[in-house]
Amino acid sequence: MRALIQATGASRGLALGRARLHLGRAFDIEERTVDADHIDDELQRLRAAMALAREQLGEMRDRLQGALAHELGDFIDFHALLLDDPELVSGLSELIRVGHYAAEYALKLQRDRLVAVFTSMDDPYFQSRREDLDHVLGRVLAALHRDASPPKPGMAGEVLVCDAVAPSELAQLKAEGVVAIVSATGSALSHAAILARSLHMPLVLGANELIGHVNDGDALIVDGGSGEVIREPTGRDLRHYRTRKREMQRAGEQRLRLRRMPTRTLDGSDIRLYANAESRDDVAEAHALGAAGVGLYRTEFLFLHSTELPDEESQFRNYRDLVLGMTGRAVTIRTLDLGADKADRCGLVLGSESNPALGVRGVRLSLSRSDVFGTQLRAIIRASAYGPLRVLVPMVARREEMQAVRKLLLACHADLRKEGYELPEPPALGAMIEVPAAALALHSLIDVVDFLSIGTNDLIQYVLAADRGNDALGDLYSPMHPAIVHLLHQIIATGKRHHIPVSVCGELAGDPLFTPMLLALGLTEFSLHPSTLLEVRERIRAAHLGKLRRRANSLLRARDRPALERWLARCEER
Ligand code: PEP
Ligand code: MG
Repeated sequence: MRALIQATGASRGLALGRARLHLGRAFDIEERTVDADHIDDELQRLRAAMALAREQLGEMRDRLQGALAHELGDFIDFHALLLDDPELVSGLSELIRVGHYAAEYALKLQRDRLVAVFTSMDDPYFQSRREDLDHVLGRVLAALHRDASPPKPGMAGEVLVCDAVAPSELAQLKAEGVVAIVSATGSALSHAAILARSLHMPLVLGANELIGHVNDGDALIVDGGSGEVIREPTGRDLRHYRTRKREMQRAGEQRLRLRRMPTRTLDGSDIRLYANAESRDDVAEAHALGAAGVGLYRTEFLFLHSTELPDEESQFRNYRDLVLGMTGRAVTIRTLDLGADKADRCGLVLGSESNPALGVRGVRLSLSRSDVFGTQLRAIIRASAYGPLRVLVPMVARREEMQAVRKLLLACHADLRKEGYELPEPPALGAMIEVPAAALALHSLIDVVDFLSIGTNDLIQYVLAADRGNDALGDLYSPMHPAIVHLLHQIIATGKRHHIPVSVCGELAGDPLFTPMLLALGLTEFSLHPSTLLEVRERIRAAHLGKLRRRANSLLRARDRPALERWLARCEER
C-alpha cells in the first residue's frame, strides 16, 4: 500500500527504484552450533568469506578512478585493515573452535562484543568506527551467505535502504547503478552526505519510519532534496515523478549555459561564488563551473584515515595540486579542524573529553601541537609559490589565537626563505567565524585578520546550543532564527565597515532557498559545494540587489520562524 514518509533530504536528486534492504538486522542471527568434526570446515568457511570480502575491497579500490580515488581509497584501506585485525580474527576463530559456533553466529557474537566496547567508550573516534565495523562484518556475512544462496543480482535501478552508509561505499554503489540511498541515521553535515553531494547521489536521512515498513523489492520514489520517500507509488505519483524529472532535467540543461555567465544581479552587482572542495573532483568541477576560486578546503581529511601524521612533503603536494588545479584563481586552505565530530587515528584528538564539541578542537588543537601545526603551515606556505593562496583558521574564539597563528605563520615563512625557498609574501590570514564569542566581539579581531569566513554549520550549533548531528532536535538546528539572522547581519556589516572581505562557507551558502536572505543581509561572497553553484548563480542573476537590501529591515524585524518563512516565501513570489 502507498505510504509517504517525510525524512531529511541530504543530497538532492529525484529517483525511482526497487528497495534493497541492507540493515543492521542482518546481525539478528539465531544461535547455531556445529559438530566437533565440522569445526575445521567452519573455520575454513570463515577464512574463505574473509578472503572474499578482502578481494571485493581490493577490486573496489582498483575500480576507483579519477579524483575521488584518493579520498575514498583511504576509507577502503581502513576497512581492509579492520578485516585483518588480529584480535578480530583470533576472536572469531576461538568462538568457532571453543564455542563450536557456526561462522555466522560467531560473527554476530564478536560484532556485538565490539559494539558494546565501542559504545561504552566516551571517545568519538571509536563511536564513529562502529559503523565501519558493521560495514566490514556485513561484507563477511554476505560472503558467508554467498555459498549458501544464489548470487544476488546487481543493484542497478535499486534504492539502498540501510541503517547507515559509509563514505567508502558510495562510489561503489554509484558504479553498481544504485539510484538513491535512504538511511535511518546520519546527518546532512556528515562526510558521507558531503560525498553523496559530490557524486550527485540522492540521499535521504533519518528515515526510521520507512525502515519498519519497507520490504525488499518495494517500489520507492526518493526525493533527496525535500526528503520525501513514497513507498509503492500510485499512477498519479508516477506521473508527477515523470513530470518533475523532466522539469529538473530541462532546468539542469538550461543551467549548464550559466557556466560561463557572470554571477551578476539584475541591477548589475557582481557577487563572488567560491567553491568548498573536498576532493580533486570538486576542484575540477568548481573550475569548470566558473567558481571564483576555492573558498574552503578542509585539510583535516588528510589526517582522518591514517595512523600516521601526513608529513610536510605529502601535504605540500596535496595543497600544490589544489592551487595548480584552480589555475590562478584564489584558493583558501583551512588549517586542521580536527576534534568533536572529526576524530582522527593519529592520536592528535584527546579521547577523554566529556564534551568534545566544546573541547580541544580546531585552532585550539593546532596551537597545542605547534610541531604538527608548523608542519602544516610550512606545507601551505610552500604551495603558495604556485598561485594565489589564503590561510583560514577554524574555531577562533579570541584575538590571542589569531595573533599566535600569525606569529607562527611568519616564523615558518621566514624559516623557509632562509632555507632557500623562493616564496611570495606570506599568505593572507583569515578567521572562521563560527564561535559565538568571535561573532559577538568581532571588533576585537578585525585588525588581526585579512578576511573572514562565516562557518554557519558550527555557528548555528553553538548559538542555538543544538548539536549539528542530532536529528532528534528537528528544526531547531536551522538558520531560521532571529539570532542567526542578526549575527550574520552584524558580521557582514562589521567586515564591510573595515574593508575586510566576508564570505559564508557553511552549507547555508549553497542552499538557493537562502540566497535572497544572504544577499539582503549584504553578503557578496559565497563559498559553496559545486553541486549547487549553478543554482545559486541562477538565483543571484534573477535577484534585484537594491530591492532585497530595502527588504533587509523587515527581515531583521522577523521574530520567529514563521515570520522568516513568510519573508523567504515573498522572495519566491517576486
Ligand atoms: C562550518 O562550520 O560552517 C564549516 C564550514 O566548517 P565544518 O562544516 O567543516 O565544521
Ligand atoms: Mg566548522
